[in-house]
Amino acid sequence: MKLLEALCTTPGVPGREHRVRKLIEAEIDGLFDEVRTDTMGSLICTRRPRPAGKKKPAANPTRIMVAAHMDQIGFLVSHVDDKGFIRVVPAGGFDARNLFARMVTICPDVHKPESDLPGVMNPGVKPIHVAEQADRNKVPELHELFIDTGLPADEVKKKVKVGDMVVLRAAFAKVGHTVVSQCLDNRVACWVAVRAMQKLKHHAAEIIAVFTVQEEVGLRGARTSAYALRPHIGIALDTTLCIDIPGTPGEMSVSRQGQGAAITCMDGASIGDYELIEQFESLAARKGIRHQRSIMPRGGTDAGTMQAAGEGVRTMTLSVPTRYIHTVTEMVHEDDMHATRDLLAAYLGEVK
Ligand SMILES: [Zn+2]
Repeated sequence: MKLLEALCTTPGVPGREHRVRKLIEAEIDGLFDEVRTDTMGSLICTRRPRPAGKKKPAANPTRIMVAAHMDQIGFLVSHVDDKGFIRVVPAGGFDARNLFARMVTICPDVHKPESDLPGVMNPGVKPIHVAEQADRNKVPELHELFIDTGLPADEVKKKVKVGDMVVLRAAFAKVGHTVVSQCLDNRVACWVAVRAMQKLKHHAAEIIAVFTVQEEVGLRGARTSAYALRPHIGIALDTTLCIDIPGTPGEMSVSRQGQGAAITCMDGASIGDYELIEQFESLAARKGIRHQRSIMPRGGTDAGTMQAAGEGVRTMTLSVPTRYIHTVTEMVHEDDMHATRDLLAAYLGEVK
C-alpha cells in the first residue's frame, strides 16, 4: 500500500511525468536487465527471457510490451493576472462538476518538490448567499476556474509562470475494502506492473514494461514507444469505468467492483485481439483468478496507439475496475487490484 500511496500522491500531468518516473525507477531497481528513458519521457524497462530450470532462452523470443501510463489529468498554468490570481488550462479530461472548491498544488519546478505551492481553486461565480437563482443552476466551465494562492501578486508572479503544472490535492485513504484516491487512473496500473514483475520469476518471452507519458492527451507516449520497440504483443494496463452505482442501469455499468480484473474487449480507441482475450480468460479460469469481460463505449487506452504501430501489434487492455473515475475520489477494490496483478504475472509467465 505504501508504494500505491506514493504513486498516487506524486504529481505528474501529461508532459510533466518526471517525479513519477523517478519514483518508479527507484522502486524497480534491479528488477530489469535494462532501464532507459526514451525521447518523449516514457520509462522503458526490459527483462530478457528467464526460462525455468536449465532451458536455454530462445534466439528470437516473443516480445511483449506492457504499457502503463504514468500521467494524470491536471492543469498547466496559462496566465497570472495583476492581482495574482492564476488561470489554468486542463491537460486531460476533467468534468467541471467535480472541480468546485478544491485545494491544488502548483509545481513551478518538476525537479524541486520543495518549490511547490498550495492554492485554492474556484470558479469565478458569486457565492450562494448573493447568487441569482439562474446562476445557482449553472455549472461553471473549466475556463472560469482560477487559483488563489493567498500571496501578494508580485510574489506569485515571481514564483509561478505559464506552463507550470497544477494538480488537485486530495487524500489517499482506505475505505472499507477499497482504496480511495485521486489518480488511481493510472497509478494503480503502474502498481500492477511493478508488483507483477516482482512476482514473476521465470518467463520465456522478452518483457518490456513501459511506463508511458501523455496518455491522457491522446495516447502519445505509447505511440512512439511501440514504434521503436516493435513488440509482437502489447498489453495496456489501465483503469476502466465501474458504474455499478445508484443512478446507472446495470447494462451501463461497464465493469463491477470486486468481480476481478477486467478483460477489455473494446473501447473507444481499439478492439482487443480475439485470441488474446480468449487466452487471458481461459488462463484466469484455470488459475482461479477473478475476472470479467468489459466494454468501454468511449475513451481509450494505450492499446489504441500500440495496436496501430509499425505493421500492427496484437493488443489488449487489462483493467482495474474503478468507480468515480477522473474525480479525486477514484475507488478501487483491493481484490480487483490483486486479481489484475496475478493475471498479468500468470500471462507473462505463460507466453512461449
Ligand atoms: Zn488511464
